[in-house]
Amino acid sequence: METMVTTSRTHVHEPRTAEGVRALEAVLADPAGTLLGLDFDGTLAPIVDDPSAAHVQPGVVHALGRLGRHLGKIAVVTGRPVRTALSLGGFEGVDGLETMSILGQYGVERWDAVTGEISEPPPPAGVAGAEDELPDLLQSLGLEAALVEHKGRALGVHTRQLPEPRKAFEALREPVAALAARHDLVVEPGKNVLELRAHGTDKGDAVRTLVAETGARTVVYAGDDLGDLPAFEAVAALRGTGAAGLLVYSHSSEEETLGHLADLEVTGPDEVAGWLTALADALDRA
Ligand SMILES: [Mg+2]
Repeated sequence: METMVTTSRTHVHEPRTAEGVRALEAVLADPAGTLLGLDFDGTLAPIVDDPSAAHVQPGVVHALGRLGRHLGKIAVVTGRPVRTALSLGGFEGVDGLETMSILGQYGVERWDAVTGEISEPPPPAGVAGAEDELPDLLQSLGLEAALVEHKGRALGVHTRQLPEPRKAFEALREPVAALAARHDLVVEPGKNVLELRAHGTDKGDAVRTLVAETGARTVVYAGDDLGDLPAFEAVAALRGTGAAGLLVYSHSSEEETLGHLADLEVTGPDEVAGWLTALADALDRA
């Protein structure tokens, strides 16, 4: 097979690694044995100043519905609460997404289209304590304009909307880490955001759970940020057990770490949408 899912628009859709090429061939040969895992922000939805306005890129939901008719499992794996991803995503009730799942808060929460039910364990006690202390901490650093996002089981401290986002982010790292530690939380750095959450789960755990449930022989995972690194590493480890894995990096100027692990690089949610559509086209033809 040589051209695979290359589209007329661009050649970047072809994996640049032998592992990636093998995995793409495996997807086309055995779609029912394939798990497609997708990060939300920066991958399916553009990153915007107001996180509550991050709607999925046009074309994504339609492409996923088409893919859902072929692939064994599609799952969104996100740091967002499931309810937020559901309302911003518009995945509910879409033809082809009858067996989709959303693993929210790094896999602590879950929604399954097949039952329509959401499982949401109560938030860890430390979140409320950290939330109480954050305003004073931010004020002491002159950064009271930083946006604190309430995420149920986690808190996000955003510096994107400040005059010097990167400088503010760096100034906050240590004091926020100390605050988190006092409340038995950990800090997950993202793009101009520090997220405080409980220990214990990451996107790698979420991917391993999905693989164990589905028995997937091929895993495609797309992400854009440091929070996706454990998922990338989980897929890389699965390759060592004979599974095929395709790592797609939704490129951004703000984060370069995932690039060297990826088999395929696309430029943000717009190209992710194009790539998903091209993959659906290829599966329709296969
Ligand atoms: Mg992301």
